[in-house]
Amino acid sequence: MRIGIPRGLLYYQYFPMWKTFFETLGAEVVVSPQTTQEMLDQGCSRAVGDICLPVKVFCGHALSLAGKCDYVFVPSIHSPRKGVYNCPKFIGLPDIVRATVPECPPVLDPDIDANEGKKQLYEAAYKLGSMFTQDRPKIEGALNKALEANRAYRAHMEREGLTPVKSIETMFPEYRVETRGNGSASVITVAVIGHRYLLYDEHISHRLVQRLTQLGVKTVYAEMAGEDKLRASMLELVDKPYWGYEEEIVGAGAHYILSDADGIISVAAFGCGPDSVMLELVQRAARRLNKPFLKLILDEHTAEGGLVTRLEAFADMVRRTKQPTIKSVHLARPFRQEKDGIGVLGIPNMRTIAPAFRVPAKLVNIKLIVPAVTKNTLSLGTRYSPEFVCLPFKVILGCFIECLEAGADTLFMVTSSNACRMGYYSKVHEEILRDLGYDFKFLRHKSSDKGILGVLRTVRKCTNHAPWRNVVAAYNLATSKMKALDDLERKIVKVRPVAQDKALTERVFHEAIDAIDEATGLLSLRWAVHTYLKKLDQLPRDPSIVPLRVGIVGEMYVVLEPFCNLNLEVELGKLGVEVMRTRATYLSEWTSIKSYMGVLNSEKKKMAKYAYPYLRRDVGGHGLESVAEKVHLAREGYDGVVHLTPFTCMPETIAQNIMPSTKEKIPVLTLICDEQATKTGMLTRLEAFVDLLERRRRSNYGKQTRV
Ligand code: SF4
Repeated sequence: MRIGIPRGLLYYQYFPMWKTFFETLGAEVVVSPQTTQEMLDQGCSRAVGDICLPVKVFCGHALSLAGKCDYVFVPSIHSPRKGVYNCPKFIGLPDIVRATVPECPPVLDPDIDANEGKKQLYEAAYKLGSMFTQDRPKIEGALNKALEANRAYRAHMEREGLTPVKSIETMFPEYRVETRGNGSASVITVAVIGHRYLLYDEHISHRLVQRLTQLGVKTVYAEMAGEDKLRASMLELVDKPYWGYEEEIVGAGAHYILSDADGIISVAAFGCGPDSVMLELVQRAARRLNKPFLKLILDEHTAEGGLVTRLEAFADMVRRTKQPTIKSVHLARPFRQEKDGIGVLGIPNMRTIAPAFRVPAKLVNIKLIVPAVTKNTLSLGTRYSPEFVCLPFKVILGCFIECLEAGADTLFMVTSSNACRMGYYSKVHEEILRDLGYDFKFLRHKSSDKGILGVLRTVRKCTNHAPWRNVVAAYNLATSKMKALDDLERKIVKVRPVAQDKALTERVFHEAIDAIDEATGLLSLRWAVHTYLKKLDQLPRDPSIVPLRVGIVGEMYVVLEPFCNLNLEVELGKLGVEVMRTRATYLSEWTSIKSYMGVLNSEKKKMAKYAYPYLRRDVGGHGLESVAEKVHLAREGYDGVVHLTPFTCMPETIAQNIMPSTKEKIPVLTLICDEQATKTGMLTRLEAFVDLLERRRRSNYGKQTRV
């Protein structure tokens, strides 16, 4: 049996291990050739534009194996070790390849997740090995041999100071890669940090390594420092790792900032989620210690000439400003004693957070600042955010700056613990805000800290340890207000499309929100809800309108925050469309007692069934839900789907690549949310989309929008 292995992404991490495993079980391993322009073009023609360069190249490599092997090996590696997450694209890779390269031979896609423990790894190996033999000891033997080859590969690179390519060539001479150009005498040493599949792929890196050597630059890499040193250095910058290969970026950056390297060049792919946040920490630390730092961004349009010019200029600058090695300093910020207590608490806004929490905060004597998201919030956030980080990061940073400017001494943030960038936000937010000179306390609540007690403890921390009865009363009122606001939302989406007077409808809706906001207790809250739901029911309707039904799916923050989606729901309502959002996007679903009983988990399981076989694992964020909802809404007879995705959002770019491949056909309009998005642009696309849905409904069901 011939097993094809695309020469991209984690090939540079695990090829010796994979080759040893398959060959020990008697298979022949076929590796795709070195990247060519044709492969890159093929990959770019298959994957959506927003996805990163290495994934496009990988799709080109997978295509190049068509007809050359019986299976293509594309494992879904969720996590290489306990407690960290891999980039969502590594997790969703086999599904991306299946969806974008249908000519590809059948994909072997074992799920490898170190967070699930060693047993999971062995189970995955047995399942894979059983394609070759039913002899379990033989499979176990093959796995142990493969794990040994992996250890040998890593030790070899560290011991001999070799790059992965050189080490693979030494271990397997049949994979020797011809390199062009030899170096001139080197007077400066520069560390080159970045993902291996970028640095050592000669085609997409434009032979960066050789060019530096030709410029008389001695280059050093993460592999040469050794894993222990990288891990120790990484902890200089982050309290604990979050991403799978964080050592190779943050660890290597920290290590070489404190080493005798004269400068650092970071290489990242355009649209790379993890690097957009990780490299920000490294670059800020290098700036603090005056270590020359050059940030290179690669994509399929990168021009060789421009890249070479920047390398030459950087090498010249380093030569001219060569500094003595930085000795005995720490990268971590000096320890600062946090003041006790909370005076003014600032939290980032998202849809109905403010009306839900404003009055309850008073019950526990907390002055709360929740700034409305405005153009100013976005421009502040964009000005100080890393390049190509996702929109929610920028908006939340802008909110924090506005909170601090308004007098907040403490900030609060819910951090997620899944494979998307959100779990890394607060690290970088704090770094940027401290560099801007703000002094504040940062309170975080991990969304994985499930259970009502965990939440109440966090609330109590935010309330200067107010008496429990006040904390419980405040929490109860806040969550009841969230439920009331969600009930109002579920009502208004049905009223908007048929309402005769759109302006009046919006006025009543906002009066309702104000009434809920001002309610000081459960009684007045119940009155507000009853009064206004009735008022909405009594609004004059146009009985001739049969609304189109459209589902809104995508990344939670942009789906919820009207400023980020340019008031999409209101605009669709004006066009006679009834919208539906997924259950998990109603905030009260996360704070209701039911959610602590795991209702949302079973909802996720239901979603996973809809998404299978197109997307077979959770890729973090709401990527799985987006694919699942498309299938679900098509089966439920909805007319269309609007897919909202922040520019470069990893889980959603995966969903974008997979959605077109489902057999359930329903029109999908993808709206990219970023600071460039304009209302006019969105309205034009919405009107065209609704037109299409009306014509489609008329032609499919002969049904009119108006009776
Ligand atoms: S987003 Fe970044 S980490 Fe993820 S596959 Fe692309 S380049 Fe690699």
